[in-house]
Amino acid sequence: MTCDYLFTHPLSRSKGESAAAVILQYIQRTQESQESTSPLSQNTSTPPKEFFKYQKKLISSVSAQSYFLSTYGGTSHMSLDDIYTEGQLELAHDCVDISAPLGLEDVVGSAGTVNEEADTVLVSGEAGSGKSTLLQRLHLLWARGAALQDFLLLFPFSCRRLNSESRDMSVQELVFQHCCWPDREQEEIFQFIVDHPHLILFTFDGLDELKQSFSDEHRLCCPTQPAPVHVLLFNLIQGFLMKGVRKVVTSRPEAVAPLLKKHLRKEVFLKGFSPAGIDIFVRKHHSDSTVAAKVLQSLQTNTALLGLCHSPVLCSIVSQCHKELLGCGEGSPQTITDVYLMILQHFLQHQSPMKSSVGLGWLQEHLKTVLRMGQLAFEGIATSCYVFSGADLEICCITEKDICTGFLMQSKDMSSSQSIHYEFLHVTMQCFFAALYIVLSTNTDRSAILTLFKLQQLKETGCFGACLPSADQQKHAFEEDATAEQTPNLQITATFVSGLLSQRHQSLWLHCCSSAILEKKARQVERCLSKGMQKHFKSIPQPVQGEKKSMHAMPGFVWLIKCIYEMQESRIAKDAMSKLEVDHLKLTYCNIGPVECTALAYVLQHLRNPVGLQLDNNSVGDVGVEQLLPCMDICKSLYLRNNNITDEGIRKLLAKGIQCDNFQKIALFNNNLTDACTQHFSHLLRTKQDFLSLRLGNNNITAEGAKQLAEGLKNNHSLMYLGLWGNKIGDAGAEALASALENSKTLLWLSLVGNGVGSVGACALARVIRNSTSLEELWLTENCITRAGVESLIQALQHNTHVKSVWLRNNDLSAEEVEEMTQQESRLIF
Ligand code: ADP
Repeated sequence: MTCDYLFTHPLSRSKGESAAAVILQYIQRTQESQESTSPLSQNTSTPPKEFFKYQKKLISSVSAQSYFLSTYGGTSHMSLDDIYTEGQLELAHDCVDISAPLGLEDVVGSAGTVNEEADTVLVSGEAGSGKSTLLQRLHLLWARGAALQDFLLLFPFSCRRLNSESRDMSVQELVFQHCCWPDREQEEIFQFIVDHPHLILFTFDGLDELKQSFSDEHRLCCPTQPAPVHVLLFNLIQGFLMKGVRKVVTSRPEAVAPLLKKHLRKEVFLKGFSPAGIDIFVRKHHSDSTVAAKVLQSLQTNTALLGLCHSPVLCSIVSQCHKELLGCGEGSPQTITDVYLMILQHFLQHQSPMKSSVGLGWLQEHLKTVLRMGQLAFEGIATSCYVFSGADLEICCITEKDICTGFLMQSKDMSSSQSIHYEFLHVTMQCFFAALYIVLSTNTDRSAILTLFKLQQLKETGCFGACLPSADQQKHAFEEDATAEQTPNLQITATFVSGLLSQRHQSLWLHCCSSAILEKKARQVERCLSKGMQKHFKSIPQPVQGEKKSMHAMPGFVWLIKCIYEMQESRIAKDAMSKLEVDHLKLTYCNIGPVECTALAYVLQHLRNPVGLQLDNNSVGDVGVEQLLPCMDICKSLYLRNNNITDEGIRKLLAKGIQCDNFQKIALFNNNLTDACTQHFSHLLRTKQDFLSLRLGNNNITAEGAKQLAEGLKNNHSLMYLGLWGNKIGDAGAEALASALENSKTLLWLSLVGNGVGSVGACALARVIRNSTSLEELWLTENCITRAGVESLIQALQHNTHVKSVWLRNNDLSAEEVEEMTQQESRLIF
């Protein structure tokens, strides 16, 4: 008998007594079996009597902690069951076996495992993408016996809270003190945990919020040996401590040290809500279906805002502020700063609805609250502090009334500590308040903005502490060097500072602070952005002779673009782009979603010369495609490989693309395209007689789609490259394309690799070879072409000297046939 028995036994799906029975039965059997080879059976100890009491206690504690979602409603709580909406999960590594979307349990399951030896799964995603909520959902389902039932104990940790643990401690203390304390038999229970690691799951939320960066310097193997908490954590992740215990860690992607990657079992990206997810979330949020419908309708009319709603945190704010949203007509929010200003106004006015001032006076009325909270947030951001004690609040003079505004909530604390601690509702909210403080306070000195925007440089020189604000009471806060982990929060803060200092919000600050000072700060931000951009441009290497000048975006480029977008002043965007002279802009693997597309299009439309825009391997999606339309005029070529785009996105893209003189090439390998999009390409090909390259590989295009494309190709006199690798056009599709391309005088390259094309298709394509004066390469690898098909290709080649190669690897030919035909025609490549 193996331990699989335990995992597959139906009773092991329930908790408490029944689980006890299962485990006891299992142990009994393993002891009886002399020949057993299971590692567990050699090492099995009977669970201590107290084990199941402890398990029950842990379950009820985890259940209580995870039942409610901390929402942007201050005091009101929403149950996770009512609001939880599936986010989009994606494996970091391409995995051929997995075609269906990943579900919640796949995070811990075996799908996509790249390193069987490792115990740690990393869930990475941007701030607000729902990482904590995902863990919370897993915790709740486990506690309820509805998921992860292979694990008898689940211990949830928050790195944010581990930061405040200054004592050295052992894993035993960590587990018991931070999660759940056994009333009796501590030693025995811990021994059982150590002896049965595969029955245990640890989760660590927010590794990016840990003050220390990941390092593998201090090795520790003994679970009872005390060490600083971060050392314990790093050893747990690496598996030196508690080998076999499964660990799930969440972090923002920028903060994941390359060193850590080699210790990962797998990495999963959490990409926020899909368009359907936004719809589901809004409907769950509003029990009144007419309100939900109105909110969704207003999102459809403001696609920039719809783009923002892919981020769950923003989606929840927008839903929360539906009254403001529906009431604001033309002035509907466009930027992230707009959304956070909306919630600021919402909370502040809801706190004192009776005497709330109309018009723009609301901020002035609550200015002191905003400044006090801003100071707390600001000092926290500078020191990676996200949990605040009562004493911290006192230093910033925060009152009970300030707390009641709802931006701060009491920390959920699993430990036995009695004192109350507070955190901002979300780290992005803390960044927003920090930004408000930088903009509105007279206490921050002039270097604060400079410091904030020179993050990269500071990281290199490590002089963060020396440059930040000088006000006495803040000094202690900035003594530590900035770490890479801090940077994401500083970047978000800087983005908000840009937005708050935008001309459009000037009237808000009237009577709150001197307009001359604000003007100065705004100019300072402008200069920082312009210089930041120039630094990027200077790094572009000179092109090798004969090649195009290409720029691969460095980290920070997209962030600068987003800051410029927040300012919403086309003058600044124009200025920034006036100095960029490249032919090709590469932004592959840059985490570009709809929000980034909005900002990119806003800025890039001001480029002086047309470019190739390469956005492969991001999460652009249909909403992102729509956001890109304003910059289509400057796109010579658009590369959108692997971006989750559907036919609907293509419809909108091509409707605009047809009108753009510069637009000549598109690559859409590996999206979700079907035959429904081919009529739009057909129209494009008919209409644009200067279009050069169409690549649609690895989509779901069949013979029907190929026939549609053929209609366009018949009337096109410019296309040079046509790629349909990995579709399903078959013989019928190949025939249709061949008859359309027979007389083409421009086509250089055609790929029908992996399309189920047989000899009938090959014979049709032979006619293209026979007649074409332009074709150089024909790719027919991985099809089902037999001898008859190849023979007709050989005959056709006898009439054609332009064709350089016809690729025929992996077709239906014997080794002898291949040998014989290679002899006949050397341009055939098998
Ligand atoms: P992260 O940990 O990635 O910063 P959070 O999990 O804290 O993000 O999410 C921020 C907010 O977004 C939550 O408080 C909640 O309001 C909303 N949210 C996130 N994920 C979901 C989800 N799956 N379903 C419903 N709401 C969510």
